[in-house]
Amino acid sequence: MTGGHYPVVIVGAGPVGLLLGNILGTYGIRCLILERKTNRSRASMAIGVMPPSLEILQKLGLADNLVSSGLRVERAIVHENQRRIGEVSFRPIAGEFPFILSIPQWRTIKVLRTNLQRFPHVSYLECMDVQGFKPGPNGSELKVLSPNGELLFQADYIAGCDGYRSTVRNQLGLAVNKKAYDCSFVMADFSDNTGFGSDAHLFFGPHGSVESFPLPGGLRRWICQSLDCDLEGDRHSTVEMLVQQRCGINLAGCRTSEYSAFSPHWMLCRNYYRGNIALCGDSAHVMSPIGGQGMNTGFADAELLGFIYHSIINQNAQAEPLFSLYNSVRKRAFRVAAKRAERGMWLGTRQGDLASQLRGWFIQTFLTRLRSARKQLAAYFAMQTIPYNHLGNVPNIQDRTSR
Ligand SMILES: Cc1cc2nc3c(=O)[nH]c(=O)nc-3n(C[C@H](O)[C@H](O)[C@H](O)COP(=O)(O)OP(=O)(O)OC[C@H]3O[C@@H](n4cnc5c(N)ncnc54)[C@H](O)[C@@H]3O)c2cc1C
Repeated sequence: MTGGHYPVVIVGAGPVGLLLGNILGTYGIRCLILERKTNRSRASMAIGVMPPSLEILQKLGLADNLVSSGLRVERAIVHENQRRIGEVSFRPIAGEFPFILSIPQWRTIKVLRTNLQRFPHVSYLECMDVQGFKPGPNGSELKVLSPNGELLFQADYIAGCDGYRSTVRNQLGLAVNKKAYDCSFVMADFSDNTGFGSDAHLFFGPHGSVESFPLPGGLRRWICQSLDCDLEGDRHSTVEMLVQQRCGINLAGCRTSEYSAFSPHWMLCRNYYRGNIALCGDSAHVMSPIGGQGMNTGFADAELLGFIYHSIINQNAQAEPLFSLYNSVRKRAFRVAAKRAERGMWLGTRQGDLASQLRGWFIQTFLTRLRSARKQLAAYFAMQTIPYNHLGNVPNIQDRTSR
């Protein structure tokens, strides 16, 4: 059965696919978003929305809504071996959003999905599992498994926003480079009994790190570096025990939710497109979640890719040079962000008394003596210094897209 023809089909309605759908909506481009799941996951996953992403969301009129549903994190306090050694304030950074917005990923998704209703030319279908595609008479033909059997859709352009295990990437046979990091983490959200307010706290120490971020609704996320011996007991009590040992904070009696364990890895697709099919977000790249940059990097991918579809479809620009630009610009942005995540994770996970003392000295010196570096450091953590972090930072983009 045929499902129709669309200029753009977006595979996957995670945060990145939904943002791309909204961007195409504002450009007046008819498109279809296909999502395999039906259940509304409440997984927090990404909680940090960075200032460059808020600027992208503001152009869609969505930043106010998100900011009012989230929490403004204006400061990160750093501890070594349970001693406070400094802080990074985001208040002095340039722009309209001098903070990192803490908001669970499911809420970001909900805002993006709800906003699609503004665009009658954007269709969103759930329970649609894209099985593959092949070249057809009009662009590509997508084979989709729906509850009513197999459907075929035609698309001039396909955007693979289908996450790390991307069917689109696999079907295109695009090669990836991958590596795993030799550390792992356990994470859970607890009701917040700390009195830390909206501050983030980073606890480093000889026995491993703990990161603590406020969440809306009186919750706080705890992400603890885990060693094999830590993972023997009940999952939430493991987080409780590590927080008690490394931060001296007792979480007993706090409501808990959202436990997960993860071992960070890195993945970069060697080419973000082939022909008229492009990858966007986690289908193209994955970095360590430590540092909170993965979804934000995907948002900047979506902004550029949306603009490229607009240039090709609405303004008859040539596709190939623009996809090639997308490939080089977005890969460069990913590499810089992923390197930062890697460095931060490396510094935070060194163990032992000597490593702890050296790290404490290094961070304290940096944060207290080199005051001038503080603002730059805040801009660095807020992703303001990532190259091409939004469309306005892609050099000569308007010239390149005019015919
Ligand atoms: C613990 C953790 C914490 C994180 N914290 C942060 C953070 O603070 N900040 C940050 O920027 N990033 C963070 N990240 C990373 C962030 O969660 C991801 O980068 C983000 O989810 C990527 O979004 P996406 O839309 O590209 O992919 P996904 O979220 O994976 O969405 C892909 C979508 O495609 C659908 N799909 C897949 N295959 C098909 C198919 N064949 N047919 C139809 N639909 C399909 C899936 O069901 C899914 O809905 C974190 C990640 C983790 C694990």
